[in-house]
Amino acid sequence: MHQRSRASVIAIAALLALAACNQASTAPEAADGVGAEWLTYGGTADEQRHSRLTSINKDSLPKLGVAWTYDLKTGRGIETTPIVADGVMYATSSWSVLHALDAKTGKELWVYDPAVDKAVGVDACCDVVNRGVALKVCVLFLGVIDGRLEAIDAKTGKRLWSVQTVDRSKPYTITGAPRVVKNMVLIGNGGAELGVRGYLSAYDTATGKLVWRFYTVPNPDMKPDGAASDAILAKLANPTWGKTGRWTADGGGGTVWDSIVYDEPNNQIVFGVGNGSPWNAQLRDPDSKGDNLFISSIVAVDADTGEYNWHYQTTPRDNWDYTATQTIILADLPTGPGGARQRVVMQAPKNGFFYVLDAKTGKFLSGNNYVPQTWTTGLDANGRPVETPTARPVNASYLHSPGPQGGHNWHPMAFNPDLGLAYIPAQELPQGYNPKPAADPATKWNTGFKFEDGLPVDPLDPATLKAMRAMYKGRLVAWDPVANKARWTVELPTPSNGGVLSTAAGLVFQGTVGGDLVAYDAATGKDLWRRNVKGGIMAPPVTYEIDGEQYLTVASGWGGAYALAAGFLFEQAVPAVVGRVITFKLGAQGEIPDHKLTPIDARPQAPRFGTQAQLQAGLVAYSRNCMVCHGPMAISSGVLPDLRWSPTSADAAAWKAVVLDGQRASNGMVSFAKQMSPADAEAVRAYVVHQANGPKAAAAPAKP
Ligand code: CA
Repeated sequence: MHQRSRASVIAIAALLALAACNQASTAPEAADGVGAEWLTYGGTADEQRHSRLTSINKDSLPKLGVAWTYDLKTGRGIETTPIVADGVMYATSSWSVLHALDAKTGKELWVYDPAVDKAVGVDACCDVVNRGVALKVCVLFLGVIDGRLEAIDAKTGKRLWSVQTVDRSKPYTITGAPRVVKNMVLIGNGGAELGVRGYLSAYDTATGKLVWRFYTVPNPDMKPDGAASDAILAKLANPTWGKTGRWTADGGGGTVWDSIVYDEPNNQIVFGVGNGSPWNAQLRDPDSKGDNLFISSIVAVDADTGEYNWHYQTTPRDNWDYTATQTIILADLPTGPGGARQRVVMQAPKNGFFYVLDAKTGKFLSGNNYVPQTWTTGLDANGRPVETPTARPVNASYLHSPGPQGGHNWHPMAFNPDLGLAYIPAQELPQGYNPKPAADPATKWNTGFKFEDGLPVDPLDPATLKAMRAMYKGRLVAWDPVANKARWTVELPTPSNGGVLSTAAGLVFQGTVGGDLVAYDAATGKDLWRRNVKGGIMAPPVTYEIDGEQYLTVASGWGGAYALAAGFLFEQAVPAVVGRVITFKLGAQGEIPDHKLTPIDARPQAPRFGTQAQLQAGLVAYSRNCMVCHGPMAISSGVLPDLRWSPTSADAAAWKAVVLDGQRASNGMVSFAKQMSPADAEAVRAYVVHQANGPKAAAAPAKP
């Protein structure tokens, strides 16, 4: 009740300021589930993504049909959690564009485009995605890919204020949803694959003025920043880092790019911290053998001051891109003495373990692996991973599971408090880690590992590609955090399926890469209903109620880290399709329109050329600079143009104009002249054209 009355006070104050606004209350509801409106990123403050609505249930599912669809007018990845308040839906799309729609009909009310300079796209490790907005009584808060945080009038779509939250001379980006806590809006950032220093900031919702900032890793000179993190960095974190190494130039990583949760009973913010920068710990920090706090950790800070409360490091001295930024869910579980209920923090980070921590102290309660993992023999009594002897390869490659895409990535997990089950969109994506020597120059993708390792110069034949595909799996895991094990598992044909929604009707909804929205029985995993939406789904569904009718919404839109990096995992590339918001309700009989697709002309535009040495140099330069966006072995999944079939790769002058002279910088393809010499760029072109000409002729010697 306390929360309600406080919400009312805030609402009244805001009504005085914004007389035109009708939203009575947009504070997060109590922890027992989401009601008629979906008001925050995770549904409630505890971010369980569990709805109390039950009109859509096991009996009525067959009547579920399409109420409306809305095109997001972009072919890039869509990761949005739409917010629904006062009959209006607020959904973000790629390049941080915000759409306001009538939640009942899908009618567009307004579109806010922050007009990003698209050259920033090259700094986005994992596509130019956006995961959603925060709302506080008629004001929306939007994180923009170029580092801005903006306040938008929810009624009109007009910008109220804008602040730049990052140093634009560094490769920072924002893809995550801000969160509103009291009179503050919280936002982090990404960029640890390229080289930045991570932090979480709190800004005043009314003015955009910085209230506090918490840096997750030390200042390279170990001096204080004048920030909330100063005391704890000096005490705990600084001693875990050495005085030399790449981190002193690149910032050390530890970006807070996704989960930020308000734990109201403990008045603290619990957030997830990303990987070290560069990934390779020996290059990052060769002097110390320290844990490199607070990378790959869950950290709790005082909500009012930003000062440290506790931390739990999931992956000490991370070496594998094992971020701990994944969904953080708060819940009361019978994990206390004698089965007493206890407030806990749950997370299934990239490293493959599901953790349960005491929310008040951060103490490790339990952990177990939710996907196969090869880098430890398990966790010790304090929850510290016991690494295998091959966990940190020195001069050789080691195939690790999970790989850098994680056993679970950003795709939101959900929790059903009635059944006590967490639903993890899990996956198996092993990767070889072969460290680069310290003498190797830094490249655009500053990981300190050889991305080209294990990849042949010659194009792979279809049988080998098929065998590789069989190694990669997707899975929906229903995890019992008290028993510390899986209750049921659904095997899926590919990794990187959508985020999850749980409902009190005993249903779990999840979309697939193949474009099916599926309803499962929450207790058993039985497949109860599915509908293909004609576009791959990564985003999590949400549900809401208007005039007594329950609606179910999901956004389709193929893209993101996996889609960009995994073209070779698909039998055939899919031309980029326009992202959509698709809304269902009972009794609706609408159709999902077909996409107008431009077929991909998969033919080489030039004959192969180049010496073997040039092709090898091309493989290395391609894999270290181009692969993350254009796909390993130059195979695109269709989100970005496939370089093999491009007229640009067929023409030396056109190639140079794009790759070195930055002719397409305004599309996000900036100049790589800093990373590649003209000879490197031409070697990459030779490699790409070699891939285009296919495996059969690869046996014949290339032209000298
Ligand atoms: Ca990362």
